[in-house]
Amino acid sequence: MSQAEVSQTGGSQTEAPRTVADDRLSLLGLSRARLGEVLALHLDRAFRVDQVYRALYEQKVASLDEITTLSKELRARLAEHFVVDTPEVESEHESADGTVKYLFRLRDGATIEAVDIPDGERRTLCVSSQAGCALACRFCVTGFWGAGRNLEAGEIIAQVHAAERRPRPETHGLNLVFMGMGEPLLNLENLRDALEILMERISWRRITLSTAGIVPGLEALATWPRRPRLAISLHAADDPLRDELMPINRKYPLRELMAALAAVPLAPKERITFEYILIDGVNDAPEQAEALAALLPAERSKVNLIPLNPDPVLGDLARPSATRVDAFRDRLRSRGLLATVRRQRGDDVSAACGQLRAPSRAPRGFRRSNLSL
Ligand code: SAH
Repeated sequence: MSQAEVSQTGGSQTEAPRTVADDRLSLLGLSRARLGEVLALHLDRAFRVDQVYRALYEQKVASLDEITTLSKELRARLAEHFVVDTPEVESEHESADGTVKYLFRLRDGATIEAVDIPDGERRTLCVSSQAGCALACRFCVTGFWGAGRNLEAGEIIAQVHAAERRPRPETHGLNLVFMGMGEPLLNLENLRDALEILMERISWRRITLSTAGIVPGLEALATWPRRPRLAISLHAADDPLRDELMPINRKYPLRELMAALAAVPLAPKERITFEYILIDGVNDAPEQAEALAALLPAERSKVNLIPLNPDPVLGDLARPSATRVDAFRDRLRSRGLLATVRRQRGDDVSAACGQLRAPSRAPRGFRRSNLSL
């Protein structure tokens, strides 16, 4: 499908384009129960709620007009009150390795990104949970550009649908990772609504939620009957360094974070992934590998080492040599931890991890790297 065709999926013939002032309710993102409530007055038969649900989340329609299981008259009546709000795909860039980066423009003009990464027979879709991010992690380009707003459930689901609409015949099967822009656990309600819908057709084992470690969010997650896999952005195994790299650690220090994680019940064979960006001369020393191994419970954990993606806004933070990366990994393994090194994908279109930014925004304008190390 060409870029032009993809960008048109939000439009339709009879549905007026939605503007900010439009107070029609968007159906995308509503659960079956909620659809039942809001549509009750407008539908003649109860089973039509299920028709709408299936059209939204199985056929992935981009407008009310596409719900052809409903009559034209009914669609027109519904269009007076409702809309299927599908963020516009403003641009799509494919990198040499097949990674596709999508830039979406939301109804209020905010922009977010999602990345579609081919991975053998499967594809991994990296989605955003917020437009921007308030956490200001030192190594992350998204954080450098400042806080934005929470995405609605429909805006999260729409990223998945947009990518799925783009055919990739060489892949079957989708993994979903919440590792795009934003901190998912600071948008817990909308995230839960989106996940409940997505988990009806994508196994929780295929979904990973990555968090900087928002303790109350983790405590809430631990009580959900169904939740995705967990990845924790750790990046340092001691509080002073983690405070510097990730200011959120001052609010939720390692002891509290590890205690909250210990209370999360895991399925058989499930492990929590700990993401650890390796930054040259900052957190990649042998003693730091030892400290990491001492912090993590080996039987419940696995470590994903991520050589830093450098960026001009990150100042002089650099990626360690491959030898240092391997030495760090091997030391963790010698302490009994499962440890892998993440391959870089999508570098040439700025789609790699921590490189997601909203180009229309001005940076928050603080800091070059001022790590006192
Ligand atoms: N707020 C959530 C989700 C954002 S994804 C969280 O913190 O987990 C965050 C992940 O992006 C990090 O764990 C890391 O895997 C990756 N990342 C961020 N900045 C990066 C950088 N400069 N280089 C490599 N990976 C980076």
